[in-house]
Amino acid sequence: MSTDPNCIFCRIIAGQIPSRKVFEDDELLVFHDIAPWAPVHVLVIPKLHIATLYELTAEHAPMLGRMLALAPKLMRELGVVNGFRTLINTGEDGRQEVQHVHMHVMGGPRPWAKG
Ligand code: 5GP
Ligand code: ZN
Repeated sequence: MSTDPNCIFCRIIAGQIPSRKVFEDDELLVFHDIAPWAPVHVLVIPKLHIATLYELTAEHAPMLGRMLALAPKLMRELGVVNGFRTLINTGEDGRQEVQHVHMHVMGGPRPWAKG
C-alpha cells in the first residue's frame, strides 16, 4: 500500500493535517515534531506508506540513505551545529507510536525535555 488514509503521517503528506514543514521532495517530507524533546526536533518520513522498518526491503536502501544524508544538512540549516541525535523506533518494544516509518532528528542546546 503506497498510502493509508487512516495513517496520521499519510494525512500530513496529503495536507489534510497541518504541519510545520522543513523540507519536501518527491520521495521525502520533513516536519517539526508536535511534541519536541529538544529545541529542534524534526521527523524525516518517506512519502510511501511503510509501517515499520520490518517492512523494508533492499530496494528501499537508497531512500533510507537519503533520509540519513538529509539530517546533517537540515540541522545545519536550522542552526544546530553542536551535534544531534537520530532515532528510528520500531514496533511495540521499540515504542513506535505512529505506524509509518519516521526518523527523529533532535538537536540544539542542552538541557532537553527528554532524550
Ligand atoms: P514514535 O514514538 O512513533 O517514534 O514517534 C512518533 C512521533 O510523532 C512523536 O514524537 C509525536 O510527538 C509525533 N507526532 C504524532 N502525531 C503528530 C502530528 O499530528 N503532528 C506532528 N507534527 N507530530 C506528531
Ligand atoms: Zn502512512
